[in-house]
Amino acid sequence: MMPAYDDQNIFAKILRGELPCFKVYENAHTFAFLDIMPRTPGHTLVIPKAPARGILDISADDLAEVARTSKTIAVAAMKAFDAEGIIIQQFSEAVSGQVVFHLHMHVVPMKSGVALRPPQSRQEDATVLADHAARLIAALGSSREP
Ligand code: AMP
Repeated sequence: MMPAYDDQNIFAKILRGELPCFKVYENAHTFAFLDIMPRTPGHTLVIPKAPARGILDISADDLAEVARTSKTIAVAAMKAFDAEGIIIQQFSEAVSGQVVFHLHMHVVPMKSGVALRPPQSRQEDATVLADHAARLIAALGSSREP
């Protein structure tokens, strides 16, 4: 049986403002912030505000909101990071590779010649993350949804 949602996970603490993050976007149902160990520049995590461990326990409506925000971030990231494509990834439960048990969608901008780092291989400098967050926020402000 799947374990219960634990509200002491780090993303729940980020949502409650108990831990810092490089926030890029928020709406009524979702929150988006930079991954501190990005696989490429601009790697962003989109999470629901409602508690859910992963794909197995999230409501269909909350998942749809996460998908909607992931799309918004993806479009802005294409512009902000001069990307040529996007990887969307979501891991549910430890056997799949999940390490933080609050559902998150990885939005990873891809560009030819820019290697995809292994997951959680290196913590990025705060100054670099601050610059990437500012670029993404600027692109979000000027983006028109297709
Ligand atoms: P996973 O649970 O395997 O889908 O991945 C969890 C992701 O969270 C990894 O890519 C980590 O680099 C990222 N991560 C871990 N701690 C933080 C944090 N405090 N802020 C932002 N990202 C984090």
